[in-house]
Amino acid sequence: ERVYRVTASSVGHGSRLHVLLFKDQSEARRIDRMRADFIANASHEMRTPLASIAGFIETLRGPARNDPAAREQFLQIMQNQTGRMARLIDDMLSLSRLEMKPYLKAGARVDLRQVLDSVIDSLAPVAGENGLAIERQFAEGPMEVPGDRDELYQVFENLLENACKYGQDGDRVVVSIEPGDKGGQPGIDVTIRDFGPGIAEEHIPRVTERFYRIDSETAQSRKGTGLGLAIVKHILTRHHGRLSIQSELGKGAAFTVHLPTN
Ligand code: ADP
Repeated sequence: ERVYRVTASSVGHGSRLHVLLFKDQSEARRIDRMRADFIANASHEMRTPLASIAGFIETLRGPARNDPAAREQFLQIMQNQTGRMARLIDDMLSLSRLEMKPYLKAGARVDLRQVLDSVIDSLAPVAGENGLAIERQFAEGPMEVPGDRDELYQVFENLLENACKYGQDGDRVVVSIEPGDKGGQPGIDVTIRDFGPGIAEEHIPRVTERFYRIDSETAQSRKGTGLGLAIVKHILTRHHGRLSIQSELGKGAAFTVHLPTN
């Protein structure tokens, strides 16, 4: 459905010439709808942990008042739920910060090898706790792209965090970087590959949607907000980059980031 606003204005006094301005409003409507959906989803996601906390407070005041073991267990659940709310708020703030400054600062160049090194160093303990080793497969040569270092850090942090979180059936996560030309345009490809349960074909196009989480036991048992890949996609669009996902159920998943070098 396309909606156009038509404005007619006469040119010159008494002229018979009219200028018709057609303005495509369907895009504006789509954005309004997306915003309304986002608020509805976000409110729902926040309400769930809040309702759980409220319920446990009531139980702690009533039936569990004199039961130290139950009290400890309920406090632990409440702490987990506050953690979940904090993650949601952080992710929503990241998204709104990105939306508030729609354009990137021009001029800065980012050394992707250096960014990947620091992301890997910071997540190595998490990988270790999950029984995974992070393997580097870095090609030679300069790996610089124009962009914002903090934003690109967040892209690779989100992807590597997911690989460590969902890739637990494997024994390693591989991070590779290599030159990659897309349609004749010089660029760099960074791939983060895990050997976990992978993603079924029908979910692949949807995992970058806001709040989309796969309804499987593995996915649901891991902490997450469903906003990580939406943030990744948002940042890559600003960098004229692209995310591609290759996966087969039971064989792991590979997320490749393509970034242009100029
Ligand atoms: P979350 O906070 O839930 O991790 P994301 O936006 O990062 O949110 O990911 C969306 C969903 O995509 C996840 O909930 C999970 O179901 C799926 N997913 C993401 N990365 C992987 C992966 N490496 N392996 C399997 N499933 C994944």
